[in-house]
Amino acid sequence: MASCANPHDNAEATSDLRLDHLCNICQSNFPPSQPWPWTLKPNRYCLKNGVSLREPSSVMELEEGSKAGCHLCTTLLEAILPEKAIIGLERGDIGKSRFCIHMLVALEGWVLQIRHLTHGTREIGGDLPVTDLLLERVDRSTDDTTQRIWNLLPYIAEPQTRTKAVQTLSCTNVNPEAIQQIREWLRTCTEEHVECGGYGGAKPLPPNSSFRLVDVGAHLGDKVRLIEVSGDQGAGNLQHDYDRYITLSYRWTDEVKETRLTADNKTDFEESISTNGWPKVYRDAVSIAHQLGVRYLWIDSLCIIQDQREDWIKQAALMGDIYSRGFLNLAAVEGPGLEVLRNPLRVAPCLLTLHMPRSDSHATKVLCYRPDDIRKAVDRAPLYKRGWCFQERVLSRKSVHFGDQLFWECASLRASETFPLRTDVPMRPEYLDTAIHDMKVALRSENRPPGASLHRLWCSVVRCYSQTELTKPSDRVIALRGIANTMARQFGLVSADFLAGIWKPGIAFQLLWARESKVYSDADKRLTDQLENHFPSWSWASCPGETRFIELDIHQFSWSLIRLDGAQASDDAACSANASLLVLRGWPVRCKQVEDWLARQNRDRKKIFQFPSTSTGGVLSTEPVAVTMELDKPVSEPPVLVCLLPVLSSFGFVTGLILGSVGTRQGMVAYRRLGYFLSGSGTRLVDMLVPESMGQSLDNLEAVYDTLRPFILL
Ligand SMILES: [Zn+2]
Ligand SMILES: [Zn+2]
Repeated sequence: MASCANPHDNAEATSDLRLDHLCNICQSNFPPSQPWPWTLKPNRYCLKNGVSLREPSSVMELEEGSKAGCHLCTTLLEAILPEKAIIGLERGDIGKSRFCIHMLVALEGWVLQIRHLTHGTREIGGDLPVTDLLLERVDRSTDDTTQRIWNLLPYIAEPQTRTKAVQTLSCTNVNPEAIQQIREWLRTCTEEHVECGGYGGAKPLPPNSSFRLVDVGAHLGDKVRLIEVSGDQGAGNLQHDYDRYITLSYRWTDEVKETRLTADNKTDFEESISTNGWPKVYRDAVSIAHQLGVRYLWIDSLCIIQDQREDWIKQAALMGDIYSRGFLNLAAVEGPGLEVLRNPLRVAPCLLTLHMPRSDSHATKVLCYRPDDIRKAVDRAPLYKRGWCFQERVLSRKSVHFGDQLFWECASLRASETFPLRTDVPMRPEYLDTAIHDMKVALRSENRPPGASLHRLWCSVVRCYSQTELTKPSDRVIALRGIANTMARQFGLVSADFLAGIWKPGIAFQLLWARESKVYSDADKRLTDQLENHFPSWSWASCPGETRFIELDIHQFSWSLIRLDGAQASDDAACSANASLLVLRGWPVRCKQVEDWLARQNRDRKKIFQFPSTSTGGVLSTEPVAVTMELDKPVSEPPVLVCLLPVLSSFGFVTGLILGSVGTRQGMVAYRRLGYFLSGSGTRLVDMLVPESMGQSLDNLEAVYDTLRPFILL
């Protein structure tokens, strides 16, 4: 028995909490002392097969059950509420909408599926599945008779390793058992995870670099102080133990701004400062560091001089190294602080008692849980919508995410307070977003990850990162510097190979990106105006929202139709877009049809053009060539001259950029990117765009480039 204030009711009321307690409705579905009153007809090939377990119920009914202390109602409610966005409900409507709960037999076992009644229909399969809970047996029967009886109930999942579930009644995520669990994860990771490479494998910081740490050593009492560590002092220098520091991922608040390090208070910080009045997230971090026996903390607002641009630029560029060398990262994914008050029934998996039909002697416990907790609490956390936090998560070697419950993440393991051995469900990979995890694994080593390609890895980084937001849009590239530096080391490149968010090697692939969203809102327009001041039109960073690279199926057969002669770019936000440029050689070919389209100034961003057939390339074609054109944003002032620049060609495909002329720079014709084009009729389009003599000799392009006049892309 435990008693907790429900942190999600502002009411002061407390209720007695009992694990696995069921309300009357839930008891009628899952009676604990007799066989369950429904039967399933398993059918491996039809997932719609199943039974409806309770009358359509509303969120309010589940809330009532939950308030009365029903563990299953609480679990169901917890599974529905985060999905509001998925079912497109406004907050006010959620109480009215109704849900059906079905027990299904799926390949991995029994699934308690919650469906949203979109049109009031009760037909199974006729509505929108909101989410699944999985049912899994807790004990593994060893004795033969039991085994045979259980075989009559096929498909209820056998215990998995993750079934080592922990039921907690603690009303906070920071409790002695949870801290002990962090110690245990740290031990396992350091001693057993080959992939994680133990601790201390990080390379030293660049020579002559230095960073600051907050010393929270117990001898200082409730005071802390700022110290400065040079790059050479860290990295395995056990005498000082400077490598054992904890980093923090959190959201900035006004409170944080008041606590920041400035040029004026730096001397005070170095002597000693009191943590009284600090934001909760900092005090929580100090407390957890004490409990884990770690003496140093790195917190951006306390370790970077916030009102000195020079210091900020220098330290921001080191940030990736600081996170990847850290001992442990603490992420406040839920609250303003790390500690979160909670109703433990929302966190603990619910245990149901299952009796065999017509048998008094055989009963087992069945675990009912939501399998994608980590996705809900971590992957979709608002914290990770913040641009800066993206690389903090990806580069940290070991992280604990402080949500409703604790989640562990390293290259080898994702686990939670309730499933401390593993949260992954091998049968249902769709419950996890592996993109971030794969990146984490790929970026962990100092050497090139086996089988990795720079472009492929960068594709995932940009696709995930471009969905995040930044308080200062001008930070869009520098907030990725840590990842770029790591990749540069892995692939044997230098800092200058990274240009405003794209890579010089394989530039032809890197220039071919597209905006994911088909909508271009007023907010996108405002953001574009800001981004365009800082980033060149050829970088995805100049375009708001999720961006992906155009992926051709047969990369290895692609010919680059451009050559890079020179480049200048910086990811320093102070740099203006006009200071970043590429000098290219290739075939920008004027295109009247697109000019006319843009001159009409419609709001469309996508159009398929039919170009007349041609035989000039030596290939006799009779059908028109279809080319898809997509603009990065609606064009308000059509340029005088529009060109198509073929960038990549492979069997059957050609893709390239739509360019608008903007006069001359440095004595060369200059263009800005307007969008991209893609054609399935590769060879013929190349024939059309590239003069015959040159297009014919794709094998010998290098010699041809020298005869072309260079031009500039801004
Ligand atoms: Zn209930
Ligand atoms: Zn590990």
